[in-house]
Amino acid sequence: MSQERPDSSLPSRFDVVIGGGGLAGQALARLLRRELPEATVCVIERQRRPLPVAAHKVGESSVELASQFFSVVLGLDEYLRARHYLKNGLRFYPGGGHTHALEDRTEIGPPERAKVPSFQLDRGRLEQDLRDMNEEAGVTLIEGCVVKDVELADGDGDHLVHFETHGGGDPRTVRAGWFVDATGRRGLLRAKLGLTRPSGHLANAAWWRVPGRVDVADLVPQSATAWHQRDPEHIRWYSTVHFMGPGYWLWYIPLAAGDDGQDHTSIGIVVHDELHPFDTVRTRERALAWVEKHEPRCFAQIKDLPMVDFLTLKHYSHATARMFSPQRWSLIGDAGAFSDPFYSPGSDFIALAASFTVEILKVRHRGGDVAEAAERFDRVYLQFFDTTCETYRKAAPVYGSPRVLPAKVYWDDFVYWSFVCQYFFRGLFKLPADQHERFELLGREFAALQFRAQKLLSEWARRADNTPRPVHVVLPVIPSMLASLYLDLVRDMSPDEAHAYMRDKLALAGEILGELALRALAELAPEQRDELARAVDLPSWPRRPPADRIASEAEVGGKRRRALPPIVRDMERTLGRVPGDHDAAALEALVARAFARPERAAG
Ligand SMILES: Cc1cc2nc3c(=O)[nH]c(=O)nc-3n(C[C@H](O)[C@H](O)[C@H](O)COP(=O)(O)OP(=O)(O)OC[C@H]3O[C@@H](n4cnc5c(N)ncnc54)[C@H](O)[C@@H]3O)c2cc1C
Repeated sequence: MSQERPDSSLPSRFDVVIGGGGLAGQALARLLRRELPEATVCVIERQRRPLPVAAHKVGESSVELASQFFSVVLGLDEYLRARHYLKNGLRFYPGGGHTHALEDRTEIGPPERAKVPSFQLDRGRLEQDLRDMNEEAGVTLIEGCVVKDVELADGDGDHLVHFETHGGGDPRTVRAGWFVDATGRRGLLRAKLGLTRPSGHLANAAWWRVPGRVDVADLVPQSATAWHQRDPEHIRWYSTVHFMGPGYWLWYIPLAAGDDGQDHTSIGIVVHDELHPFDTVRTRERALAWVEKHEPRCFAQIKDLPMVDFLTLKHYSHATARMFSPQRWSLIGDAGAFSDPFYSPGSDFIALAASFTVEILKVRHRGGDVAEAAERFDRVYLQFFDTTCETYRKAAPVYGSPRVLPAKVYWDDFVYWSFVCQYFFRGLFKLPADQHERFELLGREFAALQFRAQKLLSEWARRADNTPRPVHVVLPVIPSMLASLYLDLVRDMSPDEAHAYMRDKLALAGEILGELALRALAELAPEQRDELARAVDLPSWPRRPPADRIASEAEVGGKRRRALPPIVRDMERTLGRVPGDHDAAALEALVARAFARPERAAG
């Protein structure tokens, strides 16, 4: 039911009114039709169709959680495979800014096609198609109109949503039992209610689209046969490719051809304020000059390609004090909070906010305790957001470190697959409050480890020897514990089994953290170890790397491997052995020193 302009046939009330029909608004509308078909839904969207292909918005790369949401929960799997690219995971090349031969840099990436599908999305095509599908499914879509204000009602009364034609005129009001703000980063309701908060992460971006395929493999001469043989199927270019250096990364994302047969590549620069202020990428000319300086091989490849568009965002990350309110409103997508594009979590958070909103609305339809549900989901979402943001706040030095970045990706994947994805894939948010609580507690324990881990990785990278290393870090190695975590995403588990599984992984995450500390200490020079211990406050950690794990270094060959804890063996398979030439006694001494509580001053 499309409304080109507001007219008298428009119902005066909807159970849910969604302001903004971008990816977040349309995804939520579709989820509502599927999970709460009795609810009447209206989406008010400023921009009319047709939407531009390729050059519509950023948010093109999706990872496991969002892909599960789009493919399975929203039932779009067949559609996505037909109209977008299946993605070949995330691929990283740290070591930029030092040497510029790609074959001399570390490559971190999957060894073969992904087993759990994820997609490279053309946002214009996806949003256009979602609008068509939603209309067909009975969503009332008012296009070409802007929401001007929302008068929030107290008690049980309806909210009043005031809107008018984009550009002015035809002011109208529609009543809403629930209002969802999906208006994007300017966040109508967040601004009105004064909810915007700093996220503690300052970074900027510039991006553009070019026609045709820009293939990472073309950056490496055919004479580098070993490099090319790592990818016999020649499918690297399906990955989200990251060229990385201190405080930055540059992306290539392929976008599938539309009806005109023309495919595109999305190219973008992300820079952290502390090393690369926004001004360095603010215009087309500056962005290209920046690429020439930091990634000259990429520059040679892309400099003459016509830019279909060019956009920038200064300080793109923001937080919010609230996402879901007992007063019958919620925020979704950029209208709520946005952390960072690295690992593409934007659509993950759209999936979480849409799912949580629908759960709260189900409680409301059942006549249940909406206030309790809204408060619970608000806590859970903001906890996920803060923990995710921490992945980026201190990451600038790690992006430049070929030694530390693989350790970070190992850690980040471990936590993401074992907790965040499992929570979503198993639908644990649907549990009643009393059964859900134990997962919230687990989330807090994972968060505590996450804050320690990110600080450690950052301080380690600041001090690490960051000269490029021409190695291929296969991530995940198959078979490995990390690969099993990934494959476990498609394994059915009851809530009890999922809880036991996550508890087990939480314990392993604690072991990984200790092993990361051991690796950092072993790699650094003695005076840097003391600095690291102080910067990270190792003595305050509840656990140090276990003495028996360190003692296993006294063994050799198979005996040593068998003596190592399984998770340490797994890390070695991905990250190599603990660096440096230390015997067990030397390692024990440096760990004991780093974790020792300082003596209290006498007197
Ligand atoms: C540099 C960068 C790279 C990114 N890369 C990725 C990525 O690879 N993967 C990923 O998942 N995410 C990525 N993201 C995040 C992603 O772009 C966002 O999460 C996503 O686009 C948010 O969608 P949305 O629907 O909330 O907002 P939008 O897409 O901005 O949609 C908001 C909609 O509301 C409409 N609107 C605005 N105001 C009004 C109004 N008053 N009334 C009616 N309609 C209104 C607009 O027309 C628009 O259609 C990236 C972000 C950045 C900054």
